[in-house]
Amino acid sequence: MAAEPEPIMQIKAAVVHERSGPFVVDTVELCEPRPDEVIVRVVASGMCQTDLHGRDGYYPAPFPKVFGHEGAGVVHAVGSTVRSLVVGDHVVMSYPWCGDCDNCAQDRKSYCLHGSDLKHKGTRADGSTLHAKDGAPVYGAFFQQSSFGTFALTQARYAVKVRKDAPLELLGPLACSGQTGAGAVLNVMKPKPRDSFAVFGAGAVGLSGLMAAKISGCDPIVAVDIHDHRLALARELGATHIVNHRTCGDVVGEIRKITGEGTRYSLETTAVPAVFREAVECLMRAGTCVLLGSARKGTEVSFEMPFLQHGRVVRGVVQGDVNPQEFIPQLVDLIMARKFPIEKMIKFYGLADINLAAQESSAGVAIKPVLRMPAS
Ligand SMILES: [Zn+2]
Ligand SMILES: [Zn+2]
Repeated sequence: MAAEPEPIMQIKAAVVHERSGPFVVDTVELCEPRPDEVIVRVVASGMCQTDLHGRDGYYPAPFPKVFGHEGAGVVHAVGSTVRSLVVGDHVVMSYPWCGDCDNCAQDRKSYCLHGSDLKHKGTRADGSTLHAKDGAPVYGAFFQQSSFGTFALTQARYAVKVRKDAPLELLGPLACSGQTGAGAVLNVMKPKPRDSFAVFGAGAVGLSGLMAAKISGCDPIVAVDIHDHRLALARELGATHIVNHRTCGDVVGEIRKITGEGTRYSLETTAVPAVFREAVECLMRAGTCVLLGSARKGTEVSFEMPFLQHGRVVRGVVQGDVNPQEFIPQLVDLIMARKFPIEKMIKFYGLADINLAAQESSAGVAIKPVLRMPAS
């Protein structure tokens, strides 16, 4: 049973009323923070494919719902036991974890055994909702934040304090796509200078990985995509070679030509099985392929067994394996040092234009849409 919401403030939020329906900007009520929660005035929020999967009804919670899970803003109110944050702090809201399961106990929070529920079930862990409209519950609690609104409520432990001289409107995407791509490279692959690197898919996740490969000194850095404008950006961000998958008849052969023996590292972000196979087949012996692309249940892929015998590693990674409280401030420092120029992949929209942002994201026109929130 969902507990009755306790609204305290009126906010503007983008509400989806039915499966695959449009985002409708409306006034809703946001609950009072519990002792361990904070309310954040959202300055801007990135939009990720996962938000659109939510809109399209891939997750179980009922509608109406508020999405958004890459929010950045200013702490507006804190619960009575919160000591890590004060009103006025700048924060990025990242993914939720339970803190009690075996994986959380081993500091592998991105694999929290209750993570999917906390991200997608539409309520807090106890079934209560964060929003209401005219006394009726509005679901969402998406990633325990629902950042497509002027204010968001989250647990203090999911809100990462960041330096105040960093432009907040650029920082939301660090909460998901940025740390996913960069963490996969810096935390999982840990390449050495001159190690070869290939990325499949030059979207927000792939380009974040590519920027991290460049920071690590990888060379060559190969970017594979089907859009010339994304490949041009990949080149600008550090790719030494670009391959258009549409026109190149033999992507694996091309990567072997560029790298000699195959690449030491490959990063798969497309979730297309045939592309995943290429990302594995382009590896040199003892090379590592990290899978970030999120495929639907039931998607299968095959490899030749002898190929994997030669020390090759294929592994899936969620949220870059990172602890956001440590990693996001590091990425912010890299942004401020102009080594992680995330602004080059961002296209800004007003909250009122959220449906256009979704459309341009799906069409590949906008690599990383970021919604600027109106003053409420
Ligand atoms: Zn857990
Ligand atoms: Zn995401």
